[in-house]
Amino acid sequence: MGSQILVVEDDDRIADLIARNLEAAGFTCLMASHGDQALGEFTRSRPALVVLDLGLAGIDGLEVTRRMRRESDVPILMVTARSAESDKLLGLEVGADDYITKPFSTAELIARVRALLRRSSGQLAEFDLLYFLAARPGRVFSREALMEHVWGSERVVDERSIDSLVSRLRRKLERDPASPAYLQTVWGAGYRLMTPA
Ligand code: CA
Repeated sequence: MGSQILVVEDDDRIADLIARNLEAAGFTCLMASHGDQALGEFTRSRPALVVLDLGLAGIDGLEVTRRMRRESDVPILMVTARSAESDKLLGLEVGADDYITKPFSTAELIARVRALLRRSSGQLAEFDLLYFLAARPGRVFSREALMEHVWGSERVVDERSIDSLVSRLRRKLERDPASPAYLQTVWGAGYRLMTPA
């Protein structure tokens, strides 16, 4: 049996499409169509990954993400119809690991799911990034440079993965992850790690 994936989507047609494609790729799907059901199923089944529609009736996707994140480090791929950058950033900030925007291709969905599962099975990624930055306090590195220096030719991460790793680290390091004192964004340039003064 392949990894269990919880699909949370209130549009039956899209839920069905996602499930069929994931199952064709060898995964097993659990389905939920609203937030309460998703949280119940999540606690009961402890899936390997969650594909979560951001726009749900009732408890919305952001709140579902927040609550799952309180209990677990499960990879969360959010699905959003909204193209506003702020929604994606908010989603990443409350704990989603990656996002996919509707309409998406099956190939992209499967690739993102696989990448997240690969990353969560190799928990080292966050540590590698922190270790690299902590050894070079105050220096700014672009995402490209971080991919190159931290992971080299393995390329297990892409630019979005860097952003989600940074979000994860901030939730662990920062008193207020929304205005980081240590792991800072330098707009247009990249990230740097400041050491406590
Ligand atoms: Ca929806």
